Amino acid sequence: MAAAMTAAAMPAFAADVKPAIPADPAMEAKIRKIISKMSLDDKVGQMCELEIGLLIDNKDGKPVMNKEKLANAIKTYRVGSVLNTPFGEAQSPEVWYDLISQIQKSSMKELGIPDIYGVDQNHGVTYSRGGTMFPQEINIGASFNRALAREGARITAYESRACDIPWVYNPVMDITRYATWSRVWESFGEDPYVNGAMAVEMIKGYQGDDPNRVGPYGVGSCIKHYMGYGASVSGKDRTPGVINPADLREKYFAPFKMAIDAGALSLMVNSGNYNGVPFHANHELLTVWVKEQLNWDGMIVTDWADIHNLWKRDKVAADYKEAIMMSINAGVDMSMVPYDTEFCTLLKQLVEEGKVSMERIDDAVARILRLKMRLGLFEQPDTNPRDYPLYGSKEHADAALEAAVQSEILLKNAGVLPLAKGKKILVTGPNANSMRCLNGGWTYTWQGTDDPKFHEQYNTIYEALRDKFGADNVTLEQGMDYVQDYGKWQEEQNLRIADAVAAAKNADIVVACIGENSYNETPGNINDLTLSANQLELVKELYKVGKPVVLILSGGRPRIIREIEGEAAAIVDILLPGNYGGDALAKLLAGEENFSAKLPYTYPKWVHALATYDHKPCESVETMTGAYNYSADIDVQWPFGYGMSYTTFEYSDIAVDKAEFTDADTLTVSVNVTNTGKVKGMEPVILYSSDLVATVTPDVLRVRDFDKVELAPGETKRVSFSLPASDLAYVNYDGKWILEKGEFRFTLGTQKVKTLCTATRVWEEPNIR
Ligand code: BGC
Repeated sequence: MAAAMTAAAMPAFAADVKPAIPADPAMEAKIRKIISKMSLDDKVGQMCELEIGLLIDNKDGKPVMNKEKLANAIKTYRVGSVLNTPFGEAQSPEVWYDLISQIQKSSMKELGIPDIYGVDQNHGVTYSRGGTMFPQEINIGASFNRALAREGARITAYESRACDIPWVYNPVMDITRYATWSRVWESFGEDPYVNGAMAVEMIKGYQGDDPNRVGPYGVGSCIKHYMGYGASVSGKDRTPGVINPADLREKYFAPFKMAIDAGALSLMVNSGNYNGVPFHANHELLTVWVKEQLNWDGMIVTDWADIHNLWKRDKVAADYKEAIMMSINAGVDMSMVPYDTEFCTLLKQLVEEGKVSMERIDDAVARILRLKMRLGLFEQPDTNPRDYPLYGSKEHADAALEAAVQSEILLKNAGVLPLAKGKKILVTGPNANSMRCLNGGWTYTWQGTDDPKFHEQYNTIYEALRDKFGADNVTLEQGMDYVQDYGKWQEEQNLRIADAVAAAKNADIVVACIGENSYNETPGNINDLTLSANQLELVKELYKVGKPVVLILSGGRPRIIREIEGEAAAIVDILLPGNYGGDALAKLLAGEENFSAKLPYTYPKWVHALATYDHKPCESVETMTGAYNYSADIDVQWPFGYGMSYTTFEYSDIAVDKAEFTDADTLTVSVNVTNTGKVKGMEPVILYSSDLVATVTPDVLRVRDFDKVELAPGETKRVSFSLPASDLAYVNYDGKWILEKGEFRFTLGTQKVKTLCTATRVWEEPNIR
């Protein structure tokens, strides 16, 4: 196995590695004391996580605790964790408190240990009614604004605690290397550094500044899905990824390491497999890389039913018991079982048979108890909604709106934007009047399916434009709708393209809202990345009318629009901006706000030409010399980092403070950015490096840092980045970090500057950054 080769070359340096979270001796003593009094039943119970559906009944549509079922889980099986939302849909803070406080009461009484309740509170409080919904992570990536990531997570933590929820399965850091994947929208895009940097902010927003004492306004973060989940070869969810060992360490592991260094308290494992070995059974990647090499004392939880999957799906275990043995021995601490208690029975047998050691069990239990203590659950098992007056407040809504404004990307503008006042606007396309299309999955339900009871008070694109430009000026004729039934998100119905065309004739300008309906995970798989045939036809027919057409793209991944890009008067990609995404768009189209986002991924033009910005030189050569004269190019619709504004920015005077450097140096790279237009604007400034010659053919570009600056018209700011030279190292063929002698180039906007590394350095340590 390739990964084994890499690790063999890399000794574990755990003892020398400073732990990301300093151990608290008093806490450790308490943990040891509790464990010394626990029976084996108590211990395996702590390692078991069950779905809330096993504990509750449905009384006239309301989830109510079933005391017998609760006793079976907590008293009989000693279960330490419960997850998910009742009936698969969002609940009010009061319902949450009612259920979780009963679980806590029972846990404290029967076990003397609090439960840890986990929920997918992604992009705000997914499963909490009336709470604040932020843009999805892909938008936060596009905003290139770290402060938005932190503030959104801080508010999400507050509102989760208002629901008595102490643990969220977020942030997601699955770098997207394959645009067809159904979970592209859940992370910050294709770049490892951007994913890591944004995740670090979210962890601080969730947990506060001291991960040992998170307290009642914070939640524990769970970084996921460790790792390489976005690399499946087929582009379909939970199918095999093939990753070369150097990329695994250098690119896929990087954001997880950054997150762990920032104090992430727990980690969820990728459901898939790496070069044939399921992550859930990979001792090297779970135990050696994370727990030993990073000296990390956090907790590892499986993804949904993934111990079962080792047996039932992946066929690497002969039965459930063997699967449990493999996974726990690989380093899993808690199993998201989630539907049976057999896990406890079988794990107990495995310990009694000597197939899982008591040391491993005690280590897992210590990690679980530590997480609970760090969250303050022993002292205060519950948090009550009445102590959280800002839940769903205007203050929180404003933060979500600001994040949406800063995350919608202007990709083309032939002068038609901002929209002139007083014009007749036709709003068309299947995404025009749908909250579901603004929010995506993980919104009130798993698949984000529409239900007005959850989001009546928010504006769709059509409603927001109507409010902004006046009901007399704005008409809606969608031309088609999506089928809303579960599992049919891709289907369109009620085709009435002719009606949309007729309406366009009476309009001055057409705003066509196209893209995708909401979906999630495996049900979101597609066979063709091209935008649907109906939607392409709608836009082509609208072009024939001869009015300017503004395309508004929304959805979870970049659907190919090559055939309709050329004739568009303007194009805005709003991705999945959340409940305030329609309002944000109206402000941007009206010119009240300025665009400031950039693409967090490469937007493809062709189905078979998917690429990432950090490709190899041979993928894009102008001409080969000699008899076989040819060129190779990467033909994409828009590159990573592309995005326009209503103003213009000029870059000048780039400088690097050292003409020569070695691995011990820190380089400072700086540039002037000037707003040369007429309106104020914000510009994400992205620092790229290029290793011009290397033993392993180098990536053409790598993001090393970014910042977002605001500039008034005519204003200039000097933007500086400080970069340890070791950040320029790469993982070589032998699996070692290396910084090689030779020239490096930095790029900031249109500016480039070179500097020379004068000595090669190879590191034996596996984690130099
Ligand atoms: C998803 C995870 C999620 C878990 C719990 C799984 O299907 O892959 O991202 O956290 O379910 O809901």
